[in-house]
Amino acid sequence: MTETLQGVEPVQPRTIAVVGGGQAAGWVIKTLRKESFGGRLVMVADEIHAPYERPPLSKAVLSGDATVDSVALVKPDDLKALNVECWQPDRAIEIDRDRHLLRTAEGRELQYDRLIVATGGAARRLQGSQGATKNLAYLRTIDDAVRLGARLRDMKHLLVIGGGWIGLEVAATARKLGVDVTVVEGAPRLCARTVPPLVSAFLADLHREHGVQLHIGAGLYSLEDHPDDSRRVLAKLEGGRCIDADFAVAGIGLVPHTALAEAAGLPVQDGIVVDEYGATEDPSIFACGDVANHMNAWLGRRVRLESWANAQNQAIATAKAAIGILEPYAEIPWFWSDQYDVNLQILGDVPVESMPVVRGNMDEKRASMFFLRDDLIRGVVAINAARDLKLARKWMNQGRKVDKEVLMDTTIPLA
Ligand SMILES: Cc1cc2nc3c(=O)[nH]c(=O)nc-3n(C[C@H](O)[C@H](O)[C@H](O)COP(=O)(O)OP(=O)(O)OC[C@H]3O[C@@H](n4cnc5c(N)ncnc54)[C@H](O)[C@@H]3O)c2cc1C
Repeated sequence: MTETLQGVEPVQPRTIAVVGGGQAAGWVIKTLRKESFGGRLVMVADEIHAPYERPPLSKAVLSGDATVDSVALVKPDDLKALNVECWQPDRAIEIDRDRHLLRTAEGRELQYDRLIVATGGAARRLQGSQGATKNLAYLRTIDDAVRLGARLRDMKHLLVIGGGWIGLEVAATARKLGVDVTVVEGAPRLCARTVPPLVSAFLADLHREHGVQLHIGAGLYSLEDHPDDSRRVLAKLEGGRCIDADFAVAGIGLVPHTALAEAAGLPVQDGIVVDEYGATEDPSIFACGDVANHMNAWLGRRVRLESWANAQNQAIATAKAAIGILEPYAEIPWFWSDQYDVNLQILGDVPVESMPVVRGNMDEKRASMFFLRDDLIRGVVAINAARDLKLARKWMNQGRKVDKEVLMDTTIPLA
C-alpha cells in the first residue's frame, strides 16, 4: 500500500475535508495546521460540539466532575484560530470518488483534494425484545453522558447490560454516586475479548467488593418496560431469572461507521482498510481512529483499535501522510481503564487465553502481568502499576530480553 502513497502527486493539496468531529478528527486538524498546511480545511461533523475526548464520559462526566468544556480537545475559538470551516451539525452521506466530491445531508457539496475519514463508531444496540424499553441508554457522546449522569442522581438501582470496559466503568461510577448496580454479562467472564481469565477474575472480585451484583455467563432474554411501572425496566435472563431496575445502560460494543466508505467502494473489513500511513486504496482518501483497520507493525497483523492513544497518534500520522510527510504509525497498542481506586492499563499483545508472569499481588490491587515470547515482553496488563508499564514499554521498543524470575521477584527493582 505504500506504493499507493507514492502515487500521490507531490503538489500540496488545496482542500482537505475531514469527516467526523471526534478525537481523531481533532488531531487531524491540529496536525495539518501545525505542519503548515495553509489550504482550505473543512470539518463535517454530525455532533454540535467541537472535538472532545471520550474517556471521561464514563468517569468524570458521569460523576459530575467534568463538563463539556473540560473534555474539549479543540475549543470553538481554536477552530476559528486554525481557520477551520466547521460544517456542523451536518453529516457526510456520499463520496463521489471520480469527481472528488463529498456530499452532505444538508445538501452541501465539497470538492476535495484529500479526504480524511474519522467517523468513529456508534454504540451497538440491543435488538428486538432485548431492547424493548425507553428506560434504556447507551453511552457514546457527551450528550449521552450528561443525560445519563442526571438520571443516575435520580435512581436507586441501575442495570448494566454488558461486562466490558464501558459497562464496568459505568457500574463503578454509579456505585460512587450511591446507586445500586447489577451487571449482566453473557460471556463466561468479564472483558473476555481483551484480557485473560486472571484479569477477568480480578475485575469480578473488585466489583463484588464494591457491592455490584454480577450475573456472568447469563444471556439476556428480554429487556422491557416493567409491567407494573412503565418508568422502570424488567430484564429476563436465559434460564428464567428476572431483574427489575429503575433504568438500564447497555455497553455491548461498538459498530464502526464504515457505511460512507463502503458505499464509495473502499475496502472495509472490520473497519476501513488502511496501511501504516492511514492510506486507503484510493490515493486521495485516508482514514484513522476507531473506524480504521490498520496494519500494526508491532502486532504483525491488522487491527482496529478503540483507544484514546490510537485516536490521537494514528490521526497525527495520517494527517502528515495526507500532505506528503511519511512517518509510519507503528505504536504499541495501549489502553487504560479507571474503576474505583484501580487504574488498569493494557499494552501490546495480550493473548486472552494465556497465563502471564505475575509481579506483585493482585489481592493488594497492585500487580503487573507480563506476556512473554522468547524472553521478550509482548504484552503487559498493569494494575495500579503505571511505572512498571512505562518501563516495559521502553524494553518492548528496545527489543530487550527479560528474565522471568527477575520480573516475578518484587524484591528486585525493575529499573
Ligand atoms: C464512554 C467511553 C469511554 C472511553 N474510555 C476510554 C479509556 O478509558 N481509555 C481509552 O484508551 N479509550 C477510551 N475510550 C475510547 C476512545 O475514546 C475512542 O477510541 C476515541 O474516542 C475514538 O475517537 P474517533 O475520533 O476515532 O471516533 P469518535 O470519537 O467516535 O468520533 C467520531 C465522530 O464522527 C461523527 N460522525 C460519524 N459519521 C459521520 C458522518 N458521516 N458525518 C459527520 N460526522 C460523522 C460521530 O458522530 C463522532 O462525533 C472510551 C470511549 C468511550 C465512548
